[in-house]
Amino acid sequence: MDVVVGALVGVAIATASDDAEDRVQWNKGSGPAQMAKGLPDPPGWYRAAVGPRSKSKVLYLTFDDGPSAVTGSLLKALDAYDAKATFFVTGNAGMHKKQIRRMARAGHAIGNHTFNHLRLTEYSTKRVRSQLRGVERLVGPAIAPCMRPPYGLIDARVAKAAIRLGFQPVMWTAHIEDWQPHSLAWTIDRLQRDTRPGAVILMHDTHGQTVAAVKAMLPRWDKRGYRLEVVPACS
Ligand SMILES: [Zn+2]
Repeated sequence: MDVVVGALVGVAIATASDDAEDRVQWNKGSGPAQMAKGLPDPPGWYRAAVGPRSKSKVLYLTFDDGPSAVTGSLLKALDAYDAKATFFVTGNAGMHKKQIRRMARAGHAIGNHTFNHLRLTEYSTKRVRSQLRGVERLVGPAIAPCMRPPYGLIDARVAKAAIRLGFQPVMWTAHIEDWQPHSLAWTIDRLQRDTRPGAVILMHDTHGQTVAAVKAMLPRWDKRGYRLEVVPACS
């Protein structure tokens, strides 16, 4: 099959209306070469990851790149609201085994974010597989059947390799850009605006401010009647 050398750096923007599923827009990267290509059927991938769109007030919080020193505080806050999240972990899992066990016990999903956070599209299929297997070995039986490609970079070859190993690629519909410096108020406001039925929100549990923003939002989501659940493809 043809290898699509595209990248999908961005975001599927789902609107709040009922037929939003059909109008999910995918950004295919920032460079001209990336913009011209992309995944063969991104909306299908979106459906595979989060299931059919519903009006149900459910949010899928996803945290990449951890665990880190701030993950424990986040887990505690989520527990207090019986909120479930999906963590896409790297080789950092080896240094934070306690947090991995805690995630598993609390019913969160522990997805695969590759061992070394590589730009998978630039590496051999063999390397892609060893990157995914490395995290699988670290996490053990608690590993969820899903992965998120670092930087959102994925093509048909990488996707196929991941799926064959049992990891469904999961993208996102909203991200809070927490790798850039923003104020806490900005971040909270961003989360407020990203709150809509079925949103898959990309964050990083490597920033104290992200954890602070989630803590501020938990009572608000609760009040608005939102349930926080594991991404369906990861459960
Ligand atoms: Zn990442």
